[in-house]
Amino acid sequence: MLDISFTPNPNPKPRPDPDTLVFGKTFTDHMFLMNYDAGQGWHHPRVEPYGPLPFELSCMVFHYAQEIFEGMKAYRTPEGKVRLFRPYENARRMNSSCRRLCIPEIPEEDFVQAVKAVVSADRDWVPDKAGTSLYIRPFIIATDCSLGVHASRSYLFAVICCPVGAYYPEGINPVKIYVEDQDVRAVKGGTGFTKCGGNYAASIRAGERAEEQGFSQVLWLDGVHRKYIEEVGSMNVMFKIGGTVVTPELTGSVLPGITRKSCLELLRDWGYSVEERLVSARELFDAAQTGSLEEAWGTGTAAVVSPIGLLAEGETRVEVGGGQIGRLTQRLYDTLTGIQWGTEPDPYGWMVPVE
Ligand SMILES: *Cc1c(COP(=O)(O)O)cnc(C)c1O
Repeated sequence: MLDISFTPNPNPKPRPDPDTLVFGKTFTDHMFLMNYDAGQGWHHPRVEPYGPLPFELSCMVFHYAQEIFEGMKAYRTPEGKVRLFRPYENARRMNSSCRRLCIPEIPEEDFVQAVKAVVSADRDWVPDKAGTSLYIRPFIIATDCSLGVHASRSYLFAVICCPVGAYYPEGINPVKIYVEDQDVRAVKGGTGFTKCGGNYAASIRAGERAEEQGFSQVLWLDGVHRKYIEEVGSMNVMFKIGGTVVTPELTGSVLPGITRKSCLELLRDWGYSVEERLVSARELFDAAQTGSLEEAWGTGTAAVVSPIGLLAEGETRVEVGGGQIGRLTQRLYDTLTGIQWGTEPDPYGWMVPVE
């Protein structure tokens, strides 16, 4: 158990209108902070007013990107309760990222306690309108003032939050995706399975080029063979091919998404045959041509489920499901968001209340 001190914000901000929120631009009144120093371990856990902190420009994170983060959400139920979706999964995944980036781990219970502490302080910020939520960003940065290349001996763990509006204010519209054939996001042995800022830095260029050409995101291929599908943008990806749900296996360069895991658990419970294996772009386009590619969708905390309506590779364009959201995609979206918003029962015990 952490002994978390609390300094209330003397100047709370007015609550924003959930209809005009732009993702990630409005922050709540408080943040959670905790320091690490070699020899002392994690210490000084606190919730204090959200605001800027001073850092020397020699701070290690600015130079060698020893940084990891998580992304998760709190939701308000129709009865007004505030709940987190599978926070222990985020705790476990953050520690897996920590091990890869030589960052000291945080006990799972402490991680969840820290998230609860800041969400509880800002519980009024969890919007109640349908489709809205509070996005939570826990992260750890290396804070040694040193340009030597080695693991930092001091770190800051922080949790900041922003209210987010409905992801699909105009209803779910399937997105257009193209196969990225130049850049790769991750390679086996690298950091693809972690949520580290460096992965995102490496992926920005492909995303920009996709947008320039009128696509929402890229379909990433593996870095060695440039053949097997890994993810779509910063989401995991699933396909329904001839009745079977197929998703890239977790080979080390694919991020183990919690939405992915939850979808697979639901699908297996519903009796679908589910395959986690290598899926080549060739197989996908062949399936599309013969008509057996029935549905395609991305999964991630932000959108939950994002249907794919068109796939492009070079000059080839194939429509998926007539460009409409598929029935299984819709069922996954309705079930997951129903559990999260508390409009459906939670038979798996995924929701964790914030007191
Ligand atoms: C966070 C993330 C996902 C989705 O993970 P969730 O836990 O479902 O939000 C997928 N791919 C990448 C690269 C990510 O960073």
